[in-house]
This record gives sequence, C-alpha cells and structure tokens, in this order.
Amino acid sequence: MSDAALVPALPAVLPTAGVTPLPLRELLPWAVLALLLAVIVVYFVGAEQGATSVFSGGFVHEFTHDGRHLLGFPCH
Ligand SMILES: [Zn+2]
Repeated sequence: MSDAALVPALPAVLPTAGVTPLPLRELLPWAVLALLLAVIVVYFVGAEQGATSVFSGGFVHEFTHDGRHLLGFPCH
C-alpha cells in the first residue's frame, strides 16, 4: 500500500480570504527604521572601541563584547 494515497489532495485554488497585499508605501518607513536600527546595532557591536568610539570608557564595548565574539568581529 502506498503512503501517497493517505495524503489529501490540495484544492485547485487555495483560499485567500483575509489576506491583503501590503502596499510598498506603508512598508517603506518600517524597512528604513529596521535598517537604521540594524546599522546602529552593528556599529555598537562591531566598531564601538578605540578610535571609532562614540562614548568614552569601556561600558558599551564590554556590554556588547560577547556579541562581538559571537559574530566574529575582531576584538582583542
Ligand atoms: Zn574580545
């Protein structure tokens, strides 16, 4: 006996009720915000030390230190 006989057949047309397309005009500001936040996070994880440091002291560097090593950024 074949297992394929136990799989129900899919309908010819999948139901699409309740699915509305998202306009690009509404998505763009959120995409820009996400990109900006991602760039800020990558900066603080990857480059917040030494000459490129924005904040004095080592708090931000130490706070993101494990993430820096996890992502493979050069550290020490
Ligand atoms: Zn390190």
